[in-house]
Amino acid sequence: MKIGLYASRTLRAATLLLVVLAGCGTSPVIAPDEPNDSFASATAVEFGPTRSARITGTVDRQGDLDVFILGALTPGDRLRLDASTPGSTLDVTLAVFDTQQRLVYENDDRGGEQGSLLDSYVDFIIRHAGNPYYVVVSHSAFAASGTVTGSYQINLSVESDFDVPGPVGQTLLLDFDGGSVDSPTLGRTTIDPFSGRAISPIYRSDTTLLKELIRATVQQNFERFNVTLLTTDEPLPPNGEEYSTIFLGGYNSRTFGIAEQVDLYNTDFCDDAIVYSESFSPPVFSNVPTVEQLAEAIGNIVAHEAGHLLGLNHVEDELAIMDAASPADTFLQDQEFKEAPLSSDIMPIGMQDAAMLLNEAIGPSQ
Ligand SMILES: [Zn+2]
Repeated sequence: MKIGLYASRTLRAATLLLVVLAGCGTSPVIAPDEPNDSFASATAVEFGPTRSARITGTVDRQGDLDVFILGALTPGDRLRLDASTPGSTLDVTLAVFDTQQRLVYENDDRGGEQGSLLDSYVDFIIRHAGNPYYVVVSHSAFAASGTVTGSYQINLSVESDFDVPGPVGQTLLLDFDGGSVDSPTLGRTTIDPFSGRAISPIYRSDTTLLKELIRATVQQNFERFNVTLLTTDEPLPPNGEEYSTIFLGGYNSRTFGIAEQVDLYNTDFCDDAIVYSESFSPPVFSNVPTVEQLAEAIGNIVAHEAGHLLGLNHVEDELAIMDAASPADTFLQDQEFKEAPLSSDIMPIGMQDAAMLLNEAIGPSQ
């Protein structure tokens, strides 16, 4: 079983091809200087006098990356990358990295009224200075057959002196009571109340203790950040106050948990996620967990799903809360929000610094 939003993908090899298209307008046209699959071999983007440019290129095989150097960016710079695929069926994806090769923004589907699932759009105000920043162009990790390769063009622009969005604290509600979830991405479903007995008869007397210990694990995972943690055993926030909800209960044969979205920089204060507590039955672990170990495992997955709701993607590091590649025994460890290599499902190069992103989205603990 895996955790989170994503299914695994199989990589296929194919051939390499370079396409250079003619430019138009006043923006310089940049073509990838292949191979440019790494930060070290990235192609420099030369901006015109209006700080705009156009990139044209081709994703020519499964796993092909085009890495470009955007140069220096400072807080308040508004970076826009408009990627389209005229005459091509490529499902293009964009990822922006800072100087330390840490992901700061990504987009796979343009969404919105224009709604294309093939094109991508980034409109992002830089939070921290870096020289250089990078953009990586590839096919989506979720590209359907026939949309893995093809040409793309990207219009880039940088405008200065925008207000830098400040971090805003977030309230998280752990919902142990069950009930109906109705979400655009999770669908409509009913979650059973949290119950130790429903996980395994050996925990039949431990429901209250498990809830307390799960809460303590989530609290500890978020202790450095501006998160207010509540449970349905406590008074709810006053009417009108926004909070995101993580439901704990029920069973899912395919996953331990699922989040409504990867909400980059936490633009939505009212997201939902589900942690299927009954999926944590003893046989998924090498040894039968103690109550404390079981609570650690469930609490780590609660923090993982909350991490998605606060803008975090998957990484590959079994001590990282956002890890998604390791077996269930790894949840029994004291995982934390840490810097780790991005999951290859997201991008096969680059890092994610979870603490940096959480500090920029929700801020440090008050
Ligand atoms: Zn996940």
